[in-house]
Amino acid sequence: MSDTTLIGLGAMGTALAAAWLAAGHRPTVWNRTRARAENLGAPVADTPADAVAASRLVVVCLLDDAGVGAVLDGVDLAGKDLVNLTTCTPAEARARAAWAGARGARYLDGGIMADPPMIGTPDASVFYSGSAEAFTTWEHVLAVPAATRYVGEDPGHAALHDIALLSAMYGMFAGIAHAFALIRAEPIAPTSLAPLLADWLSTMAGSAHLTAAQLETGDYRAGVSSTLAMQVAGIPTFLRTAREQAVRPDLLTPYFTLMHRLAADGRGDEDTTGVVDLLR
Ligand code: NDP
Repeated sequence: MSDTTLIGLGAMGTALAAAWLAAGHRPTVWNRTRARAENLGAPVADTPADAVAASRLVVVCLLDDAGVGAVLDGVDLAGKDLVNLTTCTPAEARARAAWAGARGARYLDGGIMADPPMIGTPDASVFYSGSAEAFTTWEHVLAVPAATRYVGEDPGHAALHDIALLSAMYGMFAGIAHAFALIRAEPIAPTSLAPLLADWLSTMAGSAHLTAAQLETGDYRAGVSSTLAMQVAGIPTFLRTAREQAVRPDLLTPYFTLMHRLAADGRGDEDTTGVVDLLR
């Protein structure tokens, strides 16, 4: 019996397979398009059922949850540990855990915080949640392609951590796009702004800790250094600058609108943390 089965050899699955093979593991692999499996140097199963039968640990990395259901439909999962690295929503992960449990498998969901080239490097990590026993049993194998971060027994929590971090990343991407748009028509090289931008964002990322502390205590005035009122007073300057530079403020205005609502509620002496509550 091989120590691992890997189902799904897209860009990510291929990177996972390569990391395991480089570390001396011999995963049994299966992919819908067989050609992608054939030159890896790993044993290729003919069917998903054969692949699952080959190992106790079954790792799945397909495009989406519907694909997982389609590929494993009717396959005997009894006694298996199913690790699903397919990106999904928390509700999909919980439903898939119940589905696996009903078929006699222990279930771990994973949210990959890396792109394929990062797999096998120290920058890669994966959030896991679900069966603690399965995680403890297989952590040494799972840790080969990427550092492991177990975030609890709720199978939806890996996906939730994954999407929460990626959502924050998109907010950052939006800010970066706006910043570059502001300088685009000027004789300022994007490459000269980039290091300033990266340093500033790194410094400001630490504000997540203050926001977290305020959310936990419910005291949104604690530790505030730049009040909401002061920040709201500055919004017209941001909007006028965008207009002067002929830049659409569309990426910023949703956040500014929520700040205005808080200020209108008389919360100007607080931090901007109340935005979290307005979103719910
Ligand atoms: P790819 O598009 O490269 O590969 C998709 C894989 O899913 C292929 O193996 C494909 O098979 C298979 N597949 C899709 N639909 C079906 C189906 N109905 N039945 C059987 N097999 C199916 O995607 P990635 O490998 O990049 O991504 C895989 C997962 O990893 C996704 O959930 C993605 O969100 C996640 N992920 C990817 C990252 C990345 O940067 N690439 C980063 C973090 C997470 P076939 O080869 O036959 O088409």
